[in-house]
Amino acid sequence: MFWNEKMETLRGRALADLQLSRLKWTVAQAAHVGFYQRKLSEANLSPASIRSLDDLDKIPFTYKKDLREGYPFGFLAVPRQQVVRIHTTSGTTGKPTVVGYTRADLDNWSDLIARNMTMVGLRQGDVFQNAVNYGLFTGGLGFHYGAERMGLTVIPAATGNTKRQIEMIQDFGVNAIHCTPSYAMHLAEVAESMEARMDSLTTGMFGAEPWSENMRRELETRLQVKAYDSYGLSEMYGPGVAFECPERDGLHIWHDSYLVEIIDPRTGERLGDGERGEMVITPLVKEAMPLLRYRTGDITQFMEDGCGCGRGQKIARITGRSDDMLVIRGINVFPSQIEHVLLSLDGIGQQFMVHVDRVNHLDEMTIEVEMNRAVFSGELADLARLQKKVTAALHDALGLRTQVKLVEPGSLPRFEGKAKRVVDHRGQLW
Ligand SMILES: [Zn+2]
Repeated sequence: MFWNEKMETLRGRALADLQLSRLKWTVAQAAHVGFYQRKLSEANLSPASIRSLDDLDKIPFTYKKDLREGYPFGFLAVPRQQVVRIHTTSGTTGKPTVVGYTRADLDNWSDLIARNMTMVGLRQGDVFQNAVNYGLFTGGLGFHYGAERMGLTVIPAATGNTKRQIEMIQDFGVNAIHCTPSYAMHLAEVAESMEARMDSLTTGMFGAEPWSENMRRELETRLQVKAYDSYGLSEMYGPGVAFECPERDGLHIWHDSYLVEIIDPRTGERLGDGERGEMVITPLVKEAMPLLRYRTGDITQFMEDGCGCGRGQKIARITGRSDDMLVIRGINVFPSQIEHVLLSLDGIGQQFMVHVDRVNHLDEMTIEVEMNRAVFSGELADLARLQKKVTAALHDALGLRTQVKLVEPGSLPRFEGKAKRVVDHRGQLW
């Protein structure tokens, strides 16, 4: 055996040993939670019955609705007095989900974020603008403490006042920024309208909503940065579950801290590398709120080939959450697919809004798309041609007929946090 292969094998074994010991610890920790006591005993399991990583299969899934039903503190595995911080998820329906953190959790989380930023080449002394919401949303404080841990110079800019954000980038020599991809696009638009240059920027870290490869190209050109995709969810601390390396081709999972499975969402069967399905995550170091086999609703796949950077397991970029998925006349559509198509066409801007209606018992999707300035001031005949072109491109990509409505530049809403690009007027008909 070549030395390299031997090292690989040893490394793989060391990782598996670490994962197994942490999985056992996590199951024991979860057994402090009433919900898991019941679930484990129903499945005839105890912490001692986890002897190998394959035993993970025997553990029942945890669903978002379980967490909602545990509101507010039903999933804490430690006394509430040991919880030093609380975040909540943005509950679109009903009660939000509460996530508690012990001091050790906050430490682990900061380390994970610091690893993300180290991986993309940031170092002590770099100037970092954190342009996300600092409230209960985990992206703000999560990145903030991770960046401070590394010794970056942190500007807690939060969202809003975009002109001021641009001035800070210029005045403080900011080289790295973290925000949602939609806000990054807005920042680029405003900077262009001010004819402001942001030459110091080199690194953009974008997360909290799915975004496409065309969006990456657009952001990299307009902001003159390398754009990295960040993945996480509040139920697992927040951001810091997986992140892109300098190859920018899929996200590495921090697999000493998160055990990831891809399953068929209908059958629950585990899928192999290269097969698309729902990501299920078991965090391995969470103290206040351990979770077992959490159904994320996020659709992705393990990538088959290794990575040029030499790091381990990678997942493909998330195409959408099952929550974001629209079912239009039986066809699954993610807003990120629409974005991808629109960004590939000339004559239109990046902003769009999707309206879904039911007309004569049929789903109808209308997509409002902003024209760019040049087209807007042009001839009407061109508009008809452009509308046809957009409709045809969407039809090709989605396999679905849609209505396209071209609207004035600047007329659609801009988003500082997560973009809300879909309005479903169909209501609950089933
Ligand atoms: Zn890599």
